Formats: sequence, C-alpha cells, structure tokens
Amino acid sequence: METDVIVIGSGPGGEGAAMKAVKEGKRVTVIEWYTQVGGGCTHWGTIPSKALRHAVQRLVEIRTNPLFMGALENFELTMPQLMRSADAVIRKQVSLRHGFYERNKVRMVQGRARFIDAHTVEVAQENGGKETITGSHIVLATGSRPYRPADVDFAHPRVFDSDTILKLQESPQSMTIYGAGVVGCEYASIFRSMGIKINLINTREHLLSFLDAEICDALSYHLRDQGVIIRHNEECERVEPLADGVVLHLTSGKRLKTDVLLWANGRTGNSQDMGLEALGIVTDARGLIKVNADYQTPQPHIYAVGDVQGWPSLASAAYDEGRFAATHLVHGSCDHRLVRDIPSGIYTTPEISSLGRTERELTEAKVPYEVGHSLFRSLARAQITGQTVGMLKILFHRETLEILGIHCFGDQASEIIHIGQAIMTQPGKANTLHYFVNTTFNYPTMAEAYRVAALNGLNRLF
Ligand SMILES: Cc1cc2nc3c(=O)[nH]c(=O)nc-3n(C[C@H](O)[C@H](O)[C@H](O)COP(=O)(O)OP(=O)(O)OC[C@H]3O[C@@H](n4cnc5c(N)ncnc54)[C@H](O)[C@@H]3O)c2cc1C
Repeated sequence: METDVIVIGSGPGGEGAAMKAVKEGKRVTVIEWYTQVGGGCTHWGTIPSKALRHAVQRLVEIRTNPLFMGALENFELTMPQLMRSADAVIRKQVSLRHGFYERNKVRMVQGRARFIDAHTVEVAQENGGKETITGSHIVLATGSRPYRPADVDFAHPRVFDSDTILKLQESPQSMTIYGAGVVGCEYASIFRSMGIKINLINTREHLLSFLDAEICDALSYHLRDQGVIIRHNEECERVEPLADGVVLHLTSGKRLKTDVLLWANGRTGNSQDMGLEALGIVTDARGLIKVNADYQTPQPHIYAVGDVQGWPSLASAAYDEGRFAATHLVHGSCDHRLVRDIPSGIYTTPEISSLGRTERELTEAKVPYEVGHSLFRSLARAQITGQTVGMLKILFHRETLEILGIHCFGDQASEIIHIGQAIMTQPGKANTLHYFVNTTFNYPTMAEAYRVAALNGLNRLF
C-alpha cells in the first residue's frame, strides 16, 4: 500500500503530525501498536495520573469539609474505585480522538511497525498478519516507557513502575518512590493525599532543580509539611522484594522497607526493534533518537517527534512537535515559534507552573532584572476558595519592563501561567509589565495575582 505520510504512534506527537498533514491535503496512514488510539499520554501517563489526582483531591476536600464531618468518618475508597473516574475520562478521550481520525479520513492500521527500507514500513499484527506500507515521508512518534533496570524484579507484585502503579489493587500503608523527577513528585503528592506514608528518594541535591529556586524550596517545604519524607543525594544499591514488603538498599548504607516500591527513575524511548540502525538513525543509551532543529533524523524524510526524541517530554510539546514536522515536510520550513517558550505544568500539591527564565539563569547572564511577588493568601479569591497556599512571581527587565520569566505555585498554577504567557510572548514593546497595572481584571479572581505582583515589582524600582 502507498501513502504520502506514514505516522508511527497515535499519542499527541502522532496525532499532531497526522492532523496537520491531512489538513494540508496529504494521504496519511497512522500505525498504532495498542488496541486504542491516544498513546501513552491517554492510557498510561498524563490522563490517568491527572484524573486520579483530581479524584483524590475531591476525596480529601470532602473528608476535610466540616459539612460532612461525622457522616463520612469511615469513608474509604480503594485505588481501583478511584481509577474508575480515570477510566471514564480515558474512554471519552479515545472516542473523541478516534473520531478525529475517522472524520479526516486518516487510515488507521493496528500493529507494530518496523522499517524494511528508508521508505517502507512493515506492520506486524497480533494475529500474525503483516502489511507493508510505503510513504514519501515518515514521522516517528513512538513515545517512551518507564526505564527498568535489569536487576530490579518488576514481575514482583510489590514492585511497580509509573505504568503498572495504575493497576495497584491493594491499599498499601507505605510506599517508597525511587526517583524524584516530575513523575515521582506528582505520585508522591497523590499517594500522600490518599494517606499512604511516602519515602521520596531523590538522586540529586534538590527537587526539580530546573525550576526557579524559590519554587523548588516551596515544593520541598510543602511536601515535607504534608508528611512526605524526602531524602536527597541517594542512590539505589539494590531492591529486595519480600513477601511482606520491599527493602530498598541505598549506597549510603540506608535500608528502607515499605509495603510497595514505585520505581520512577527515568524513561526510555520506544525505538527498539524498528530497524533504525540499518538506516543510520542513531539512538542514545536511553533509546532517544537524535534529530536536528527541524526534528529530522539523518534521513531527512524521516522525522522523530515527542518523547522518542527527548526534551521536553511533555504531551503539550509533543503535539506541537508533530504539527511542526508535518508543516516542515509539506512546506520545507516551519515557524519555530510553534515549539518555543514551552511552559511546564507540574501537578504536585501544590501545583507548579513556570515559563521563561529563572532568577539563577538571569543572574548568570547578568541581566538587570527585578522581581514582583503576589502571595495567594492575600488574594480575595484564594481566601474564598480556601486555596491560600501559593505564590506568583514575575521576573522583568528593570529598564524595559519586559517580562522575562513567570513562576507560580498553588491551586490552578498551570492555568494561571497562561495569562502571563499571553503577554510575555507578545513581540517587542507589547511584552510589558505595564499591561497588568493598566488592565482591569475581574474581581475576585486569581488573575488579580498578576496586578499585585506587577505593582509589587514596580515598587522595587528606583
Ligand atoms: C505519569 C505521567 C504523567 C505525565 N503527565 C504529564 C502532564 O501532566 N502533562 C504533559 O504535558 N505531559 C505529561 N506526561 C508526559 C506525556 O505523557 C508524554 O510526553 C506524551 O505522552 C508523549 O507523547 P508521544 O506522542 O511522544 O508518545 P506517546 O503518548 O507515548 O504515544 C506513543 C504511541 O506509539 C505507539 N508505538 C510505540 N512503538 C510503536 C511501534 N513500533 N509501532 C506502532 N506503534 C508504536 C505506542 O503504543 C503509543 O501509543 C506524563 C507522563 C507520565 C508517565
């Protein structure tokens, strides 16, 4: 069978590429190994973890609401019960995305893809069937999976990774999470909110050190305040699964025994057994495909987008990268702005979001900046909702008042950031702190934090 564009993988990267290419008039075939569309994003990553978090947060709200005191004293929900709401969201997402492909006449082929030559892909179906597809362009959007060291027994019922933890049947009393990256920190928040005792083991000196230092400190403080035990600069020596728990032996000599272990230390690109080596497409030790600034592999008609090509490994970015690749393969170029200035949204408790440069980066670059803060506890809206933990921080150039970075933690931080993003990404003089003092905001809102932070920053100038 012949087509214009073959897309391998139906996560956000593949969907972005397929939809853009088909809208540009190309014949598109998407190959997906899983039985449903949506990728790891819908089935094992973003969607289930965020839906679980939402369910747990509602449970905590009900439990702590004075209205229900007494009535819900012994009210418990198990993990499978909590996951039911996630399953409902997954079903809706799959049906929605399936409809996109159907309406746009994108051909869907189920099976595992591997290259026969630089323009031909063979799809191996589960029933043993095989199909060969030839395309002028190919987009690899095969995503990633949790990194599993060979000496950790993931077949043991008490040892989990971030995919298998969603199938947790029991309600453990205690859990060790090895790896304190975004996934480790998010699950530490979720499981702590469910009342589980958490050891969070960080292999580095600080939590999420790519964030602004004040935000890292706030995250550490609040996780500890919630009862999470954080240990920094630790390294795993070995994992010892037992009948009644798992012992994590650390090279520092410490031994931690908990009911279960969640291994959340890194991810591996899904690039194995695809015949890439024969085409001169190189992968690193973690299976990530090396691409140029236009997401092209050494074979210029083969692109790699999303997690399989590495940073920033976000669903949001993967979708844009897919659209970028499809635009590039049709027109030979693409506006780079599409995938620049990517905000980060981290769904811990408190939620975190940031965009642009940190204080550390600006100081190193000797940029004369100033800071404006707004604490959520001083905002009427936060006082009404009771969500008073949080802060918005704007970094701006002290001479031009150009916004250079926005960092936020607290309830709805990942939504709040986009108000500032809309101004920060304006060209030239339109990116100015003055916008926030010269614009009337609804009251009471969380958006008011921008006005408060802008005034706070302007007051620091002399
Ligand atoms: C626990 C967790 C929480 C996350 N939370 C967030 C979040 O809040 N926000 C955010 O932006 N990102 C989040 N992410 C990251 C996000 O899920 C990924 O960045 C995103 O899914 C990457 O999209 P993708 O299209 O590259 O790959 P995927 O979504 O992984 O899709 C890849 C698809 O390719 C298919 N495939 C693989 N190999 C083949 C083959 N050989 N043949 C055919 N098909 C194949 C797979 O079956 C899969 O369906 C989270 C990740 C995890 C693990």
